[in-house]
Amino acid sequence: MKAIVDESTCIGCGLCEQTCPAVFVLVGQVDKVRVDPVPEDEWDRCCEAAASCPVEAITVEE
Ligand code: SF4
Repeated sequence: MKAIVDESTCIGCGLCEQTCPAVFVLVGQVDKVRVDPVPEDEWDRCCEAAASCPVEAITVEE
């Protein structure tokens, strides 16, 4: 699984980092993806973070 953050859409709210800190990290006002691929034991939290993003900036690919 791969997570992608659209940095032009991200508003830097930090929610994804709170939900799944192993994968997402806020750098300044933009969120970055720490790991590629996403470790299997983080898939659920990663998907939860993607679903919770208020501006739908996170895409998750199989
Ligand atoms: S939840 Fe969405 S808007 Fe908020 S920091 Fe993460 S990617 Fe950006």
